[in-house]
Amino acid sequence: MLELETFRLIERISSLLRSEQRRKYAALGLQPVHGQVLDYLAHCNKYSNTHAAVAEYLGLTKGTVSQTIQLLERKNLLEKTVSSQDARVIHLSLTESGERLINELKPLELFKQAEQQVSQLKFIDIGEALQTTLSVLQQANQSKSFGLCRTCSYFTVKENHYLCGLTQQALDRDDTEKICREHNPRNPQKT
Ligand code: SF4
Repeated sequence: MLELETFRLIERISSLLRSEQRRKYAALGLQPVHGQVLDYLAHCNKYSNTHAAVAEYLGLTKGTVSQTIQLLERKNLLEKTVSSQDARVIHLSLTESGERLINELKPLELFKQAEQQVSQLKFIDIGEALQTTLSVLQQANQSKSFGLCRTCSYFTVKENHYLCGLTQQALDRDDTEKICREHNPRNPQKT
């Protein structure tokens, strides 16, 4: 159960970061796959910067990779170089614009904000640390938390009954274990 909760939190943190990145790419007329290819090429070595390696790493078809590379080349984000040892082999690398873009589009600003808030806190387990990190990232990203009801600032226990402080309605025990779009995270400094 603990593993499942930890897994869910990691999944939510990574999907939040992906959505932040998607939003930034969309603003530039790019799709997530374009960013994935650029990101891969920014980190792979000279033996791994070919069309085939990109397709293999990202699990894409050769056709998709080929179209993506063409588009990125047109936008001057990457360039091709024929191998000096084998003229059949084309190496792909980022241009200066591509390097700049990949650095600008990392959701690092979100992370910095989260790190500043979380670094001073003490946690009793990894679940609590991940939950707090997720809440801080969501606040920085101004996204809805969709958190667990029992972790909401409106969640109240009154005379052995559960109550939603927002709607003033009673909650079943089951409700307290479900996620809610109106969830309002507690201030991490106070948890
Ligand atoms: S707003 Fe949603 S998450 Fe918060 S207490 Fe009410 S039902 Fe639960």
